[in-house]
Amino acid sequence: MALSIHPISTGQVRIKNAQLVRRSGGPVRVMSDHDWSEWLPIHVWLIDHPEGLILVDTGETMHASDPGHFPRWHPYYRRAAAFAIDADQEVGPALARLGVRAGDIRTVLLTHLHTDHAGGLGHLRDSTVWVSAPEWRIAQGWGGVLRGYGPRHFPPGFAPRFYDFSGPPLGPFAQTCAVTRARDVIVVPTPGHTPGHVSVIVRAGGRSYFLAGDASYTEAALSARAADGVTFTPRAAKQTLDRIALYARYEPTVYLPTHDLQSVMRLRDTVILSMAPG
Ligand SMILES: [Zn+2]
Repeated sequence: MALSIHPISTGQVRIKNAQLVRRSGGPVRVMSDHDWSEWLPIHVWLIDHPEGLILVDTGETMHASDPGHFPRWHPYYRRAAAFAIDADQEVGPALARLGVRAGDIRTVLLTHLHTDHAGGLGHLRDSTVWVSAPEWRIAQGWGGVLRGYGPRHFPPGFAPRFYDFSGPPLGPFAQTCAVTRARDVIVVPTPGHTPGHVSVIVRAGGRSYFLAGDASYTEAALSARAADGVTFTPRAAKQTLDRIALYARYEPTVYLPTHDLQSVMRLRDTVILSMAPG
């Protein structure tokens, strides 16, 4: 039985253009920017794998646009993000439309713990959820809230397992964590957008499908090595983009960020990322 990847749209988000591509001032500039992006998708990826169903990220909850869902005092949610998620766009009903019961998802791989990636965890109480240890640490408490995480919205008793990055190197990625016995679904650290951010590489049919989370918001940002406007570590973000580009130079790669309007088309048409030698 062959492996397949299915995109799932779990609603839309709108952010400031100064978040899409970093400008001088970084996060401060994001808060004062008046230019909104267009509505962007919030993708979740279902990997139908012979060893069981794997979900990469969980999308956002419909409650994200309710007053008081996010702390009212938080400048980012107050000024710089807007969500549009219908009840039937949450990951549970979205999976059901594909004929999949959320309870049948064996494994959930989180790229990071931002609210639009972890907001659907309540639908996946029967799954084993994986996250990176540094991401889990940094998302806790008031420090986590200040950094834009929503720890109080994690399901009660939520206790993720931590990726074990002791696997062999994969091209420019020194650390890897294979999550299937076939070693065809591999998690690699891609810090930058957040310190504990990871990406998921699915190797199938002689290609790599690079489920990039928010390593960059778009393929264009990867090509330009442009960090986003909210990272506190733009240098780390650019090193990660260099590493992804290097990987793609030696391995036919379909690049699939969470919020890229072109991701579904690239997956459907198997559009290979072209990386000029640099
Ligand atoms: Zn994020």
